[in-house]
Amino acid sequence: MINFAHKISTKMTEKYTKIKQIYEGKAKKLYTLKNYPELLLQEFKDDATAFNALKKGTILNKGTINCELTTFIFKYLGKRGVKTHFVKQISPNEMVIKRLKIILIEVVVRNVAAGSLLKKTTLEEGQILAKPIVEFYYKDDSLGDPMISDSHALAMKIATEKDMKTLRQMAEKINKILKPFFLKRKLRLVDFKLEFGKDKKGNIMLGDEITPDTCRLWDSGTNKKLDKDRFRFDLGGVNEAYAEVRKRITGKA
Ligand code: UDP
Repeated sequence: MINFAHKISTKMTEKYTKIKQIYEGKAKKLYTLKNYPELLLQEFKDDATAFNALKKGTILNKGTINCELTTFIFKYLGKRGVKTHFVKQISPNEMVIKRLKIILIEVVVRNVAAGSLLKKTTLEEGQILAKPIVEFYYKDDSLGDPMISDSHALAMKIATEKDMKTLRQMAEKINKILKPFFLKRKLRLVDFKLEFGKDKKGNIMLGDEITPDTCRLWDSGTNKKLDKDRFRFDLGGVNEAYAEVRKRITGKA
């Protein structure tokens, strides 16, 4: 069984040969692929950062867990009509993705008040939002990823009016699909961040990842935090939380 799995993975990595690393971020690396100019390889790392990389560490098996979770969730969304960049998982922590022109906007969706929302409003942690909140942030480290409105995005020419409408619609649809998806696995989807890009034809697709690095996930019974907040705020049990989310979603221990 192990040999068989190993053979498949070896075959895949032979089919998709890395040429050059073109990007290294806080949690992932991107490589170009031999013979596939329209695709890229996305590698997930165990490294974790928080507070604009002021806090650094590693989380046990995070690369593998986040690759598996993104694969599982992107396939699930794909079957429900959400276009994503996912093509194929080819090793425990690597996937082949479509090469997109990234839209420089992070889209955050919130169902429950937490995180930075508490600093901007009078809402208290855990308060359920009657209607999900969708927010846009300009992806620019030097500016500290400021929150922006549709009008700011248009003024900076980072997206058109139609793009902004599509981003909002896709984010709302993804939330509608994922809320019950997580709840079935005893997880509350408190909030999450999405990134999008355009293919050659201009179709907007979901990119990046959906993992405990980019979502707040609380146990639906106890509200225990099972996401990167355990790392951000030194709550302990970080590795265990990631392993628990993996088990609840993929069934793997
Ligand atoms: N988030 C993210 N990357 C970022 C900023 C936020 O993945 O650069 C996620 C975060 O994990 C949470 C959601 O987006 O699930 C909302 O984050 P928030 O605005 O509360 O910011 P935070 O206080 O977590 O930085």
